[in-house]
Amino acid sequence: MRRTLVAGNWKMFGSRALLAEVIGALRDVAGEASKVAEVALCPPFPLLAPAAELLAGSGIGLGAQNLHAAAQGAHTGEVSGAMLREAGCRYVIVGHSERRRDCAESDALVAEKAAAALREGLCPIVCVGEDAGERAAGRQFAVVERQLAAVGERLGAEGLAACVLAYEPVWAIGTGRTATPAQAQEIHAFLRARLGERDATMAAGVRILYGGSVKADNARELFAQPDIDGALVGGASLSGHDFAAICTAAEGKRWNN
Ligand code: PEP
Repeated sequence: MRRTLVAGNWKMFGSRALLAEVIGALRDVAGEASKVAEVALCPPFPLLAPAAELLAGSGIGLGAQNLHAAAQGAHTGEVSGAMLREAGCRYVIVGHSERRRDCAESDALVAEKAAAALREGLCPIVCVGEDAGERAAGRQFAVVERQLAAVGERLGAEGLAACVLAYEPVWAIGTGRTATPAQAQEIHAFLRARLGERDATMAAGVRILYGGSVKADNARELFAQPDIDGALVGGASLSGHDFAAICTAAEGKRWNN
């Protein structure tokens, strides 16, 4: 059974004041009491500690947006998985397309980061997704297959079982242009089938989130798809009202399998 997960990715936005507003709104709709949906918030590093305090006892998860692949070392400006764990994180996003683009993160590095997260007891949210040119060329399946394979080869079926995947078509991120539910479901089913080639039980259990301009008014239709197990939400997670509405839509999704 897959528990729906809605995770907010604040990117390089936010403040302590916004944390209080958004977490206040989430506390009203999410938390331990919900058997159906799980909610997590991934603010920038300096906001992790105040977020952990505000989230205490809420059942809402905390996540980071990146980690270094090494356990520790002379890596100025970087943050380790152990540090994130100590700050109260349950999740960490790896392989977001903005980091693949801005920091030239390769498939191999993303796989190493996922392995580092697992080593520290964190759940990696592994992002995959094609850009507009790749979709126009009909290469979306090949791209996500390659990105997933790199992680699968590094982690194996057991490691993959402890991950969350996020399909985030680059052309839909921050553009207001959402993949249609059918387009998203097609890729999600494809990813699950690739996982199934490694291990059917693992494939049935791994949560695959959709990300790319998810809003309160399109969430319900996306969540209705059988292989969409929640959402990674960027812009809309910066509003308590909008993020809470997406979480409420997730509550409407029935248990799968
Ligand atoms: C994201 O940052 O992962 C994302 C999906 O952003 P947005 O919801 O703003 O498209």
